[in-house]
Amino acid sequence: MGDYHVHLHPHGPYDGTGPALGVYPPGHIEAYVTTALERGEDEVGFTEHLYRCTESTDVLGPFWEDPSNPDVAAQARAFVEEDRTLSLDRYVDAVLAAKDQGLPVLLGLEVDFFPETIASVMALLEPYPWDFLIGSVHWIGAWSVDHEDADFEFDRRGVRTAYEQYFALETQLAASGVVDALAHADVVKKTGRRLREAPLELYRPVVEAAAGSGTAVEVSSAGLHRPVAEAYPAPEFLRMFYDAGVAITTASDAHYPHECARDFDEIKEYAKAAGYSDRVRFRQRSREYVPL
Ligand SMILES: [Zn+2]
Ligand SMILES: [Zn+2]
Repeated sequence: MGDYHVHLHPHGPYDGTGPALGVYPPGHIEAYVTTALERGEDEVGFTEHLYRCTESTDVLGPFWEDPSNPDVAAQARAFVEEDRTLSLDRYVDAVLAAKDQGLPVLLGLEVDFFPETIASVMALLEPYPWDFLIGSVHWIGAWSVDHEDADFEFDRRGVRTAYEQYFALETQLAASGVVDALAHADVVKKTGRRLREAPLELYRPVVEAAAGSGTAVEVSSAGLHRPVAEAYPAPEFLRMFYDAGVAITTASDAHYPHECARDFDEIKEYAKAAGYSDRVRFRQRSREYVPL
């Protein structure tokens, strides 16, 4: 089994490490696979960000436009414009070429969820031979809910309202059934803004929607390396997914080869503590269960 949330380029302007943005030289994909194999995993599912690909410009549209919230809108616009340096076609070609060479890789994508545009997004993605898709809520309207530079918005909205808005969108994503797994299902906590008590009443609709649509949820080590210092989803949230029969994948959200399958021993134990004994593997958007 493998790491089912992996990016091939870090965010932001090119920092001189690794290949230039949007370029996939020989050995780059192999470097992720090598790390995963060293950590006891047997495949890597790549999931580049759709919003970073120039081909998404028209379908996603200027989602940051919000005259009522100009600084949040400006942050989102600048971030997307700086980060939109990749090509969907070149990314797909690179992963498929690695697959043709016999490397244990899967073709996936991290799909940004906006209720207004998800149908057009799925039409754009339809021709590609995906093994799996993961879905993410990174923006509530114009607000980058998991971006440090927009963290001030928690003070304006209030943490409770922010959580309610985030989980309402995550519930819509889970109910839609358009992706195979929910990525970082409680990423709203990433910068460390938390409610005093776990918001079980906000988790519940997400869990019920995922169970109803047959969408899996990833157990991700990425949160361990963020200010919140906790895996996604939170322990109570993951236990609710388990009780509802929602399947899991394992994920690192790596953006560099050395991050691939990072802390997988820890998150496997974390998943077992919630009750899980297996996880799913994907092939051409169908799944099978394998032991954790
Ligand atoms: Zn993400
Ligand atoms: Zn990601």
